Amino acid sequence: MRFDILSIFPEMFPFLIDYGIVGRAVESGKIQINVANIRDFGEGPHLMTDDRPFGGGDGMVMKPEPIFRTLESIPRVEGERKVILLTPQGQRFNQSMARSLCKLQQIILVCGRYEGVDERIRSRYVDMEVSIGDYILTGGELPAMIIVEAVSRLISGILGGATSNCEESFEDCLLEYPQYTRPRVFQGDDVPPILLSGDHEKIRLWRRAQSIKRTLEKRPDLLERANLSERDKSILEELKQKKV
Ligand code: SAM
Repeated sequence: MRFDILSIFPEMFPFLIDYGIVGRAVESGKIQINVANIRDFGEGPHLMTDDRPFGGGDGMVMKPEPIFRTLESIPRVEGERKVILLTPQGQRFNQSMARSLCKLQQIILVCGRYEGVDERIRSRYVDMEVSIGDYILTGGELPAMIIVEAVSRLISGILGGATSNCEESFEDCLLEYPQYTRPRVFQGDDVPPILLSGDHEKIRLWRRAQSIKRTLEKRPDLLERANLSERDKSILEELKQKKV
């Protein structure tokens, strides 16, 4: 998997590329992250990348030619690729989108700044518009980092254990069960005894019930899409009865 990030602030990305799981995946060659500086393809002696909006109004708009030239400079990797524009007007990013993006071989992320990018880039070169939430940031760099991080950790072989991410929140449309580590007693508060029982099947069932309980308490909207077994459904019904 190769990520290409187009930005006028490439100096923001070492924090993503050099640390943690993403850093290790880059180091081991499991993923490649290339940050292309749009300014290198700017217009005129001052390498301009933005200009005033036609029709007037506040702010500046990112010019199309520098972004086009940066896109043209990016080598094509064999396999499926998508050009993604980060924009608050895009489809909302979530775990299932991350799951489908992790199947691609190349993801090109275009980071806007100012009032955004010239509409002709969007209409001619963009395959997908993605938002990370209903709020406005000053640039697409943080959204791009979020996407790289969320997608990378789903690529096989990047997390330690083969199953490390299949029980996490949002997988299966359920939130993750509560987690505990040492010490066994913290400020008088003991770890649930079942976790010390050594009975893996009982622990698995307890965790599943806790996931359902948490999801009902915190994100009941997710339950509509959750893949629940008959046992899960009866746990859910019981929890709902207790609530009323
Ligand atoms: N004028 C634009 C509008 O109202 O839709 C907002 C531009 S925003 C200040 C500048 C850039 O930040 C955008 O082009 C986009 O790349 C990025 N951005 C801001 N908020 C974002 C969000 N919620 N999701 C993804 N990208 C975002």
